[in-house]
Amino acid sequence: MRTISVLGSTGSIGVSTLDVIGRHPDRFQVHALTAQRSVDRLAEQCIRFRPQRAVVGSEASAQLLRERLTAVSCSTEVLWGSDALCAVAEAPEVDTVMAAIVGAAGLPSAVAAARAGKTILLANKESLVMAGPVFLDAVKAGGSTVLPIDSEHNAIFQCYPAGSSARLGVRKILLTASGGPFRRATLEAMMQATPDEAVAHPKWSMGRKISVDSATMMNKGLEVIEAHYLFGLPSSAIDVVVHPQSVVHSMVEYVDGSVLAQLGHPDMRTPIAHALGFPDRIESGVGSLDLTMMTALEFEPPDPVRFPCLRLAREALLAGGAAPCILNAANEVAVEAFLDGRLGFTAIATVNEAVLEQLTCRAQASDLDAVLATDREARSAAQRHISRSS
Ligand code: NAD
Ligand code: MG
Repeated sequence: MRTISVLGSTGSIGVSTLDVIGRHPDRFQVHALTAQRSVDRLAEQCIRFRPQRAVVGSEASAQLLRERLTAVSCSTEVLWGSDALCAVAEAPEVDTVMAAIVGAAGLPSAVAAARAGKTILLANKESLVMAGPVFLDAVKAGGSTVLPIDSEHNAIFQCYPAGSSARLGVRKILLTASGGPFRRATLEAMMQATPDEAVAHPKWSMGRKISVDSATMMNKGLEVIEAHYLFGLPSSAIDVVVHPQSVVHSMVEYVDGSVLAQLGHPDMRTPIAHALGFPDRIESGVGSLDLTMMTALEFEPPDPVRFPCLRLAREALLAGGAAPCILNAANEVAVEAFLDGRLGFTAIATVNEAVLEQLTCRAQASDLDAVLATDREARSAAQRHISRSS
């Protein structure tokens, strides 16, 4: 029996995680569930999974959740705030932590889980993008294990040399990208794109932030940085290929010319079940892939003109230091402004580039506090750019 804390349990990844966990009551028990604001959904999850603790973002949400749970005699203890998130990530009775909070907010609890030696199922790619070396140092110091949840990285993990973390014989990896909702759109149409159009992903159902990142292809840029830290490969050995069907989730090319791919339905329960069961294979609820129903699997290069965010991410990775953290922070602020109707879709990349240029010489942060300070500085710079441009 494994004991798991699901951080961000009410989100897209969190809900899929509980769907898989619910299929295996003999394997998993839930220690904690967490959400920022979604009290109703969290209450339902607590009633079903009976965790020892639940964490929300504010005292008011905590009060509301307590009332809901008391009314149905659910004895889950309700806590709130970021210290409580870290506490349920590092609790001694927990062996596995699903890190599925969106954005920079997920970093401190992921680092806490790493320091405490947990098996971390890492959906929160921002932890690696913002703080790659700091996070990996914590993983090493704590003796923690990281299993990638991001579908591309999970696919690569599955195709990597068996039982070896060394990249023996690997020539390069190929991250697939769906191309998002604007794969065929003109730049003019993209300039007018609304939040509803941007989050309407053709293949994957995801949270709003990552859906916008898929539309700008910043998501793929963040994933290049994530892959660099997970697999120890330079940017030059990480290719991106647009594959609109989203059936091939990524590939590893070996020096002998072999290319290994992982295929499946675009359903996050597959990588989640892979990591939850690892090294065993467990049922995920995802059905068989019927290859005879597929007319074609297409692959094309990404368009650098309409999707400059991909280039920015590579530039940040090559610049090193704090650049990836700065880019991530600027992008979070810009995407939020876009979703609030304060910024145009194509201006997300403009803000990201301006902030990256302004702050890029900052040195790599050596600890979590320094990472968070850089993150705050880049957020302020992005806010200023957005106010000036509106
Ligand atoms: P989501 O927006 O659907 O859910 C986010 C979760 O985090 C929710 O439970 C929310 O309550 C919680 N949360 C939000 N802000 C918070 C804060 N400030 N403090 C604490 N908790 C907070 O997001 P998602 O799509 O599930 O994505 C989660 C993470 O997984 C992201 O890092 C994303 O990049 C990554 N990811 C998601 C997918 C996907 O298919 N959705 C795929 C690959 C990677
Ligand atoms: Mg992905």
